[in-house]
Amino acid sequence: MSTNASTKAFQEAQESIPGGVNSPVRAFKSVGGTPIFISEGQGAYLTDVDGNKYIDYVQSWGPLIFGHRDESIEAAVLEAVKHGLSFGAPTEAETELAKLVVGFFDSIDKVRFVSSGTEAVMSAIRLARGFTHRDDIVKFTGCYHGHSDALLVEAGSGAVTFGNPSSPGVPADFTKHTLLAEYNNIESVKKCFADSNDIACVIIEPIAGNMGFVPADKEFLHELRKLCDANGTLLIFDEVMSGFRATINGAESITGVIPDIVTLGKVIGGGMPVGAFGARAEIMAELSPDGPVYQAGTLSGNPVAMAAGFASLSKLKQNARVMAVLEARAKRLVSGMKASAAEQGITMQTDVRGSMFGFFFNDAPVKNFKDAQKSDAEMFAKFHTGMLQKGFYFACSLYETGFISTAITDEMIEETINAAAKVFKAIKNV
Ligand SMILES: *Cc1c(COP(=O)(O)O)cnc(C)c1O
Repeated sequence: MSTNASTKAFQEAQESIPGGVNSPVRAFKSVGGTPIFISEGQGAYLTDVDGNKYIDYVQSWGPLIFGHRDESIEAAVLEAVKHGLSFGAPTEAETELAKLVVGFFDSIDKVRFVSSGTEAVMSAIRLARGFTHRDDIVKFTGCYHGHSDALLVEAGSGAVTFGNPSSPGVPADFTKHTLLAEYNNIESVKKCFADSNDIACVIIEPIAGNMGFVPADKEFLHELRKLCDANGTLLIFDEVMSGFRATINGAESITGVIPDIVTLGKVIGGGMPVGAFGARAEIMAELSPDGPVYQAGTLSGNPVAMAAGFASLSKLKQNARVMAVLEARAKRLVSGMKASAAEQGITMQTDVRGSMFGFFFNDAPVKNFKDAQKSDAEMFAKFHTGMLQKGFYFACSLYETGFISTAITDEMIEETINAAAKVFKAIKNV
C-alpha cells in the first residue's frame, strides 16, 4: 500500500497550516506515521489521495450515521443550496429542525442552533450561570466539552480541586470557577459541593466518548441528579457525541435521568457544521432576545446546514429500528475483535451503546480517565497501524470512540474481525 501522495500532501499542508491540520487529533500524533489525506467518501468507504480504500469507523468523528454521501441528505443539501447559502434572517427550515429535536427529547421544550459543539456547550454554560445567578461549574476529568476557555481544564494528580488550565493561553482566572470531579465517583462530586455553594451547573458526557468510550453508571447519574436538585444546581448532559448515536431519544431515555440542559452537535448536522442546546421553556426563556443572557451567531441556523440536519434526523425518526441494527453490528465487531485478541493472549475491554463502540487494551474495566490512562498505548498504535494497512480506518487515538454507520454491512464487520485477528497475530509474532 503506497501512501506517497498523502505524505506529500501532509508536507505541503504543514507549510501553511499549523501541524498540517485544522484539528489536532487528525495529525496521527499518538499512533505515529502520517495522516491519510482523503479524496472522497462513499457509503462505508473512504478513498485517500493515493487511491487506497478503507472501511470507515470514524465517520467524521460521529456525524455521518448514514455513511458518506447518503442520497437523501445529499439531495436535501443540493436543493437548499439552490435557494441561497445564507440570509442572516429566519427561515422555516430552522423551525422544522427545532420541532424534530424537541420531539426526540423529553427534557427539551425549546432549542437554539449554533455552528459547533464547542459553541453549544459554551452557550449552555452561560445560560446555566445566568439562570442560577451563580459562577462555579463542575466538570469531570477526561470529559471533553469543546475548546472554550473555562472547559479546557485538567485535574491536578487526581485530586479534586479548583482547576488549572490545560492549555497555555487560558488565564488561570478564567478557570478558577471550574471544579473537577472524577467520572463515576459520586464522592468526588460531593466534595465539590462541600467546597463551593456557588455551583451553577454540573456538566457531564453521560456516555463519555472522549477518554475512549466510557458510559457512566446509571446509579451514578441518578445520584448526580439528586445532588444537583438538593443544591439548586443545573445538570447539563453534553450529548454532542452521544446524541442520536447511542439512542435517538437521548441518554435520558436509557438512564431515566432527566437533565436540565442538553447540548448537541455532530449527527444533528448530518455532516454540516451544526450544534445546539436545548432545555425546558423556563430555562430557555432566559436567553436573548426573550431574556438577558446574550448569545448570537451570523451563520447560526444556516439553511444548508439545517437541510442536512433535517434530512438526517427525519431519516432516523422514520427508521427508529436502525439503532438496534447498528448496535447488534457494533456488539458483533467488538466481541469478535476481543475473542481474536484473547487467542493471542491480549486482553481487551469493550463496550457498546447503539452505534458507538469502544475498546481498551487494558486488563481491568475502565470507569474513569485514570483507568483509561493505564491502557496499553503501544498496543493501540500497533493495532491502528496494522488495521490501516489492511484498509480499516479506526480513530487514530485510544481516547476516541468508534462509530458504525448504516452503510457498514454484516459482511464488512466479519472482514474487519478477520483482519483484526491477523493483525493481533502479527503483533504477537514479531
Ligand atoms: C465533539 C465534542 C464537542 C465539541 O464539538 P465541536 O463541534 O468539535 O466543537 C463537545 N462535546 C463533546 C461531548 C464532543 O464529543
